[in-house]
Amino acid sequence: MKRTMCVFMGIVFVCVCVQAKSAKPVSSPKAEAAKTPKPPFGGTIFVCRNIITDDDPTSFKSVVAIGRGERKMFDRRLNRSPKVNAYLFTATFDDGQTMEIRVNPEFGADGAMAQAKKYLPYIGQMPFTLRKDVQNVLIHKGKKGFGGGGKGILIHTDMGDSYIRGGILAETLCHEASHTSLDQTHSADKNWLAAQKADGAFISGYARGNPRREDVAESYLLYFAVRYKPHRIDDKLREKITKTIPNRIAYFDAQNLPMHPVAPLGELGRLAGTDVQNKLKLSDDQKAKINTLRLSLIAQIKKLEKQQAKICELERKYDAKSIKLLTAGQRKILDGLKEQKR
Ligand SMILES: [Zn+2]
Repeated sequence: MKRTMCVFMGIVFVCVCVQAKSAKPVSSPKAEAAKTPKPPFGGTIFVCRNIITDDDPTSFKSVVAIGRGERKMFDRRLNRSPKVNAYLFTATFDDGQTMEIRVNPEFGADGAMAQAKKYLPYIGQMPFTLRKDVQNVLIHKGKKGFGGGGKGILIHTDMGDSYIRGGILAETLCHEASHTSLDQTHSADKNWLAAQKADGAFISGYARGNPRREDVAESYLLYFAVRYKPHRIDDKLREKITKTIPNRIAYFDAQNLPMHPVAPLGELGRLAGTDVQNKLKLSDDQKAKINTLRLSLIAQIKKLEKQQAKICELERKYDAKSIKLLTAGQRKILDGLKEQKR
């Protein structure tokens, strides 16, 4: 678990980058990554504070105290995993997932429950694909970097408060949960490594300095923004992301990752996915028209932020327009894709 933990404080960023530059082996992934162009961002959790907002739905349902128990809890203040008599809670999510929340005794019983209740709604905002391997959440005091990996997420509450003030708590949790739930399957996958190579660039300095450890987590957050929250990022930012990592975006598209409680962007959102476009063999003209519809929808959703009913109505209208662009054969294939998904 320690190996995959990561730290976000600026000072560590700098250390990591210096290490990457002075790395000796000529053909190591780090040395190869160092030859790529300067990434557009330092670290992706700092890029946009509104990718996930407090208005987004959460799958978190309930939390119940289950007493105390001895647990080995990694604590970044000590840089080791002492056994502590933690306050334990079971958290339940509306898709049936459960997690054990382990809170350091330093909070006391009431304080421990309050901390669990504070972080769980944010954890429940993450799509299932990021929550799926998170079996435990460790909560300590202290202003130390969060962590992800193994089967858990590490939270230090003074750092959490500063992320809340900065509006990037949910984004940071997504980064950490990517380590827990995505790294093992994807970070060494040959298609992922091929996508890295084909892009010939990294989305952030943090990813470039740690191409095997941080690239999936750094890339996924902004992929998520482009695909599922496009109305929360501006056009310039979207362009920067899609131009820097198009092959990684296509890779994630092809995985069909389960997203609950994050709503899909309707048929039009699906049709914008590289994987679906390839399966339907869309013509360049169809692709261009779909892109135009998508940009127009995103622009209109931006104006309607927080008026969910109107957004749904608008999405339905655009879905209908996008389906009209398809041939009868393509519609049939699209229906088939839906069947498989169920
Ligand atoms: Zn990380």
